[in-house]
Amino acid sequence: MASERQEGLNVLVVDDEEHIRVAVERILRRLDCNVLQAPDGEQALSILEERDVAVVLLDLKMPGMDGMEVHRRIREAGYRVQVIIITGYATLETAIDAMKQGAFDFIPKPFDKDHLALVVERALNSIRLEQERTRLEQDRERALLDLNTEKSRIRTILESLPHAVIVTNTQGRIVLMNQTARQILAGEESHIGCEIGECLEDGELCELIRSQSETDRQEGSSYELQLGEDSFYMVRTNPVLGEDGECLGAVVVFGDISDLKVMDRLKSEFVAKVSHELRSPLSTIHEQMALVLQDMLEQEQPEKEQRIISRAKEKTKGMLSLIEDLLDLSRVEAGSAFNDIQRVNLPELLRSQVEFVRERAGEKGQELVLESAGEEEPEVMADPRALESVFGNLVGNAVKYTPEGGRVSVRIGPVERGRVRVEVQDTGIGIGEEEQSRIFERFYRVKDKQTKNISGTGLGLPIVKGILDDMDGTISLRSQKGQGSTFSVSLPVTGS
Ligand code: ADP
Repeated sequence: MASERQEGLNVLVVDDEEHIRVAVERILRRLDCNVLQAPDGEQALSILEERDVAVVLLDLKMPGMDGMEVHRRIREAGYRVQVIIITGYATLETAIDAMKQGAFDFIPKPFDKDHLALVVERALNSIRLEQERTRLEQDRERALLDLNTEKSRIRTILESLPHAVIVTNTQGRIVLMNQTARQILAGEESHIGCEIGECLEDGELCELIRSQSETDRQEGSSYELQLGEDSFYMVRTNPVLGEDGECLGAVVVFGDISDLKVMDRLKSEFVAKVSHELRSPLSTIHEQMALVLQDMLEQEQPEKEQRIISRAKEKTKGMLSLIEDLLDLSRVEAGSAFNDIQRVNLPELLRSQVEFVRERAGEKGQELVLESAGEEEPEVMADPRALESVFGNLVGNAVKYTPEGGRVSVRIGPVERGRVRVEVQDTGIGIGEEEQSRIFERFYRVKDKQTKNISGTGLGLPIVKGILDDMDGTISLRSQKGQGSTFSVSLPVTGS
């Protein structure tokens, strides 16, 4: 078959007269086709059964099965062939009859060579066109099938994802929601077409999704969502962008972090317990060493021994402050610290915090100032010890990380849109850009020549951040290495 296809299509000549068959074969040699011969109807039908034939040249008048019968059987079998009738009894009637039964054309005998070649060529072309059309149709169907398979594959993958996935349009309406999303957010119901607020109670997250759905801002955002007592999700929103970069909506993925939260809580509890157990023996050691050192001084013991005990005392002091910070951090994380909420006069609290470090700043020859934008005395609803911890850490750091002779200023800004801003600025060693995003991580300390001899725990800023997060406060930083730092805290003020 393959070789036949290479040689061209098959043309079958059915005629009881051999010289006619031979003559036809000779005429068709110049066409791009392969000529087969059959002396009668039966043989013609068996060739058609076995081989692919494109055109049949069929004599009407043959002994045995006549041409009309062969033609009828060809049509009945449904072969895709073009039949050209050849007959010496050319009458208009037989021609019309044959054509009515679907013959391609009609050639009277004796035939003209060129006419025969022309008619066969046209029949072959019509078969070629038909084959091409079929091929295109099959291609199209295959492409559609692929497309459908691809669509259902994506849908299946999406449906079986362990993460909840929601896609919204630019109006913040849900256009897609997978099985997990239905389970955790919609009580198994599909909320397709609903506004995001109808299946999510968390207003802040809804706002985030709405704004992500309509802006063509490339970067996504993250949000920690709590659903019920023990279910926590890290929600990631990203824009869905069209070909021209226009925003078509947002894709929202909910990753379950409940187990991580439990582990984190257990770890915090463990740290809190260990810190608690260590605090009192360590305090005792520290106090005893202070007494020993006092005795040594009074008895004028050798300086070397005094130095050793003094260094050991300093180390225990460092360990004690680490323990205090760890306990503070655990309490902040557990939400059990600083629950004594009351009206706090912010400038007053800042004045006492500044006074608290004045001696240390003085020892370093630093200028330490507190400036206020106006006469107002903004008040904040908070546990005063929480605010003391926030500003104690920031002002303490400013003094600690500013070399001798520098300047530290604490500025209270005006109240704007229900919030007050406090800036703690220093002219100290500054913080490089890369480190700025890390200094709020637990235990992170910048390690370089300038910080080498400055002691600390790396827990002060995480405590500050934890406290501010709890009271709807924010903290930001402007700094450059060697150019000083400004920590800026924003807090909601109480109405009068
Ligand atoms: P630490 O006990 O080490 O001071 P913090 O959490 O308070 O811990 O601060 C983390 C790190 O941030 C510090 O180790 C220091 O490298 C850097 N840092 C904090 N405040 C300042 C500041 N005002 N100037 C320069 N570096 C600072």
